[in-house]
Amino acid sequence: MERIYIGMGSNLADPAEQLRNAVEALAQLPQSALVGVSAFYQSDSLLPGQPRYTNAVAALDSSLAPLDLLDALQSIENGQGRERLERWGPRTLDLDILLFGDRLIDEPRLKVPHYHMQERAFVLYPLAELAPADLRLADGRDLKDLLAACPFVGLERLPPT
Ligand code: ATP
Ligand code: MG
Ligand code: MG
Repeated sequence: MERIYIGMGSNLADPAEQLRNAVEALAQLPQSALVGVSAFYQSDSLLPGQPRYTNAVAALDSSLAPLDLLDALQSIENGQGRERLERWGPRTLDLDILLFGDRLIDEPRLKVPHYHMQERAFVLYPLAELAPADLRLADGRDLKDLLAACPFVGLERLPPT
């Protein structure tokens, strides 16, 4: 089993409900156990003119191979109506693998650690709720340093429902 962190985001069709459904689907994955889910956050879209996003991070223990997990996550996205019309367009559900144990993965379909996580407050702050305070990424960076360099801006932590 390896500890995996998955970033979740939605800005269409009842985003909070999309994330709750995604959490249920993650809990059903084979060879895996859902370990925790952060609070939900709202964030401004990175691109102007899109609805605000709801984001969260889930922690999973799994013995799935990385590309098998990616396939499973993409099928959950597709099952929740994800359409890929334009890069970074609005979406019902985005599931990104942030960290996969202490692996560095550099394959055409999968880069881990997720290549944009350091500049995304909506990833780092929910991740910090679940991860050990002294978490070191496989590339040697410390989560606490990434947090210190990424202000909590444009982000709102939602109360539990
Ligand atoms: P961003 O990567 O900037 O968050 P996005 O999540 O909107 O953008 P998607 O359309 O969901 O991008 O995914 C595009 C491709 O990214 C996927 O088909 C997948 O193969 C690839 N990919 C590479 N690394 C990862 C990763 N760590 N997690 C999920 N997908 C990844
Ligand atoms: Mg993404
Ligand atoms: Mg994605």
